[in-house]
Amino acid sequence: MKVFKFGGASVKDAEGIKNVYSVLQQVGHEDVLLVISAMGKTTNALEVVIKNYFDKSAELLASIQEVRKYHNQILLELFEDENHAVFAAVGKIFSDLEVFLKGTKSPNYNYVYDQVVSLGEVVSTTIVSHYFNHVGLKNTWVDVRELIKTDNTYRDAIVDWDATQKNISKGIKKKNLNITQGFLGSDENNFTTTLGREGSDYTAAIFAYCLNAESVTIWKDVPGVLNADPRYFDNAVLLNQISYREAIELAFYGATVIHPKTLQPLQRKEIPLYVKSFVNPLLPGTSVSKGADLEPQTSCFIVKKNQLLISLSSLDFSFIMEENISEIFLLLHKYRMKVSLIQNSAISFSVCVDDKFGNFAELKAVLSKKFKVTYNDDVSLYTIRHFSDKSEATVTTGKEVLVKQTSRETLQIVTKEIA
Ligand code: ASP
Ligand code: MG
Repeated sequence: MKVFKFGGASVKDAEGIKNVYSVLQQVGHEDVLLVISAMGKTTNALEVVIKNYFDKSAELLASIQEVRKYHNQILLELFEDENHAVFAAVGKIFSDLEVFLKGTKSPNYNYVYDQVVSLGEVVSTTIVSHYFNHVGLKNTWVDVRELIKTDNTYRDAIVDWDATQKNISKGIKKKNLNITQGFLGSDENNFTTTLGREGSDYTAAIFAYCLNAESVTIWKDVPGVLNADPRYFDNAVLLNQISYREAIELAFYGATVIHPKTLQPLQRKEIPLYVKSFVNPLLPGTSVSKGADLEPQTSCFIVKKNQLLISLSSLDFSFIMEENISEIFLLLHKYRMKVSLIQNSAISFSVCVDDKFGNFAELKAVLSKKFKVTYNDDVSLYTIRHFSDKSEATVTTGKEVLVKQTSRETLQIVTKEIA
């Protein structure tokens, strides 16, 4: 079986969905599992709904309406007959959402978040599955929440591999075209969980692992894995072949083309990963597989914008020792800060973090009891794999360098725009 993942950008409108159909016509669709994300920016739009719900905003219904209208427009373009069953199916998902938001009393933001945001994937797969059947491409719609089991860390759930393996082995019919949702799972009480933003790639890897798939293909609006994000760098080039190790490093440092959790399950079973263009599906794209001889010869650039550089020093000039450091890490973990760089000296300790969940104010209050806390917000973290003097100059020119760190293959630089 082959696993294909189509992200939000590939199904952002009716044209996009027709294009997915065309890709399948070109590359084949037998014995394929399609993992699909929410359409376009639906996940962000549903985040607004959740915020409005918790803020008790008067905009709540209007924000739901907006998501609904967006999908309805796509339906109208795909199906000429408004009595087609898909209209009722999608309508029910939205009315269930309203019922849920009226009924729930849960003060647990992350729990409510997952119950709501997951509908983006439920709607997108419902539409794609109906559309494919409508144009004669028979397929089976699979509810991923019945297969991928997780703990109840809402918004960042951890997969229960044993249960998931059993469910997937039983639940997926080979030889069919199966269509399922990326990003979602469910906990032991069958409440919906999510695997972290942009987690659909990871879903594809979970299925591939459990099905011993032949390969995974992530279909993108770029030709494959580039050595730099073309939004921030000129002259990006395509990497034809890279090793799992290189891909893990690139993803870990923030190259958004592959979700970082995706590589590990694939590498364990040596399942090749292809990253290809959904515009030119017959081009080879990038292949990720085993082998040190696949390292790119060119520097690879990764930038993470909007990072926080936090520096802690002792209040009394004492050293920052192991016990302080372990306490600091416990707190970073508790407040769900992802650390992407660490630097310490005798009496100070700095970390560059991504405050994805907006917890810094709380963390700072706790840390300030024990340390002098200084910070720079809105800094950029540049990582250059296979760096050179020339590639370093590319990222530092015209910027203030706050931290610079080098290891054998990797250079990391935290910069601030000069105001
Ligand atoms: N729809 C989810 C998100 O936007 C998952 C994904 O796209 O991979 O984060
Ligand atoms: Mg998405």
